[in-house]
Amino acid sequence: MSERIVVVGAGVAGATAAQTLRREGFAGEIVLVGAEPDLPYRRPAVSKDLLAGTGTIERAALKPAAFWAESRIDLRPGVTAEAVDTDRATVRLATGETLGYDSLLLATGARARTLDTGSKRVHTLRGRGDIEALRAAVTTGGSLLIIGGGLIGCEVAATARGLGARVTLLNAGSELMDRVLPAPVSALLRRRHVEHGVRVENDVVTTDLVDADGGVTAVAADGRTWSAAAALVAIGSVPDTALAEAAGITVNDGIVVDHHHRTSAHNVFAAGDATTVYHPLRGAYERPQHWNSAMSAGAAAAMSILGLPAATAEVPWGWTDQHGRSLQFAGWLHPHNELIVDGDLDGGEFLVTALHQSIPVGAVAMARPRDLRATRTLIDAGRPYRTPAVPAP
Ligand SMILES: Cc1cc2nc3c(=O)[nH]c(=O)nc-3n(C[C@H](O)[C@H](O)[C@H](O)COP(=O)(O)OP(=O)(O)OC[C@H]3O[C@@H](n4cnc5c(N)ncnc54)[C@H](O)[C@@H]3O)c2cc1C
Repeated sequence: MSERIVVVGAGVAGATAAQTLRREGFAGEIVLVGAEPDLPYRRPAVSKDLLAGTGTIERAALKPAAFWAESRIDLRPGVTAEAVDTDRATVRLATGETLGYDSLLLATGARARTLDTGSKRVHTLRGRGDIEALRAAVTTGGSLLIIGGGLIGCEVAATARGLGARVTLLNAGSELMDRVLPAPVSALLRRRHVEHGVRVENDVVTTDLVDADGGVTAVAADGRTWSAAAALVAIGSVPDTALAEAAGITVNDGIVVDHHHRTSAHNVFAAGDATTVYHPLRGAYERPQHWNSAMSAGAAAAMSILGLPAATAEVPWGWTDQHGRSLQFAGWLHPHNELIVDGDLDGGEFLVTALHQSIPVGAVAMARPRDLRATRTLIDAGRPYRTPAVPAP
């Protein structure tokens, strides 16, 4: 069995892996290296209570500081791993130290994709370190342009409205969060944003952000413009693969791993947002980008490192909180899916199941967590949908 396992990246994937290693009886040394200065924390809180100022980084911590010491996990916050040498099985840290490893887990996550403007008024939001500047811009400037109608763009729109900012959301798609929500639920989400005073502009491909006259102007491909005191670019994320690539490990969008979370390098594993992984149910490689997927992947990678059987890949699922309501979504939606609506969309309690040839492939729920869980099981089983239901309008 390995004597020292090094985990690079102290997000949820890395932190869960370290905990799982210890829980499963690994008695050797575990070093958990994280570039961010904080204890491992709930990243989803960044666009919700942390940005709103109603939560604190201490309350968002996954575990109290004492936990890591008591678990004999050598947590090193604020330390970046600079290079991996897979021939020598070593990791060089920014502190100058070089650590040998028996197994290495890369859980380096992702970075916010951005539009290179060089402007201090243009923000991105990925971690705790991005919050202060965005919050100051929203509370002092009072107006915000958000480029991107995905999960982060929509959540920040809701949070910034809660802080009293005037918010314009420029979405390249024809509906909000359309990668994970079916059309009727996206439309519901847009209505809620509009009711709460967010100006939502769909089908806007922003080509430029110009810093001028004490503010930012977004220029769309069709020449239209919108201006505000500040802008948030929320156009997705880029997997953080630099370390793996420089070490000669196979990368294709993310760090490529098999279903045991093994990379192309001997005794090097990877998990979480940094990876591209084959999902047997979907029959394709994908880059999971949800909290629960990263957590499960961290646990599964730890089991693989120890040579123990790991849970099989689960149906991906996530959630979002906007304007006081929480939506949960699961699986893989396609615009051509048949939709079964159970409940009342406007009433705030529903389950929408997406079918492909009568088999559930995706679902979205509000205030029905148990039903969403049950539908995940159906998606996993790949069995035809049976309950009589009313098709979506
Ligand atoms: C603002 C925001 C809100 C979100 N909200 C939701 C939500 O509501 N629901 C949901 O399901 N998902 C949500 N997500 C997605 C979810 O948070 C991510 O899928 C999850 O955090 C990924 O975990 P991870 O451990 O793979 O990567 P990360 O959380 O990105 O952690 C990776 C860590 O590795 C560190 N690192 C990178 N390179 C190095 C290096 N060389 N050396 C040392 N450390 C390094 C990084 O600094 C980072 O701390 C949200 C994401 C964001 C950004």
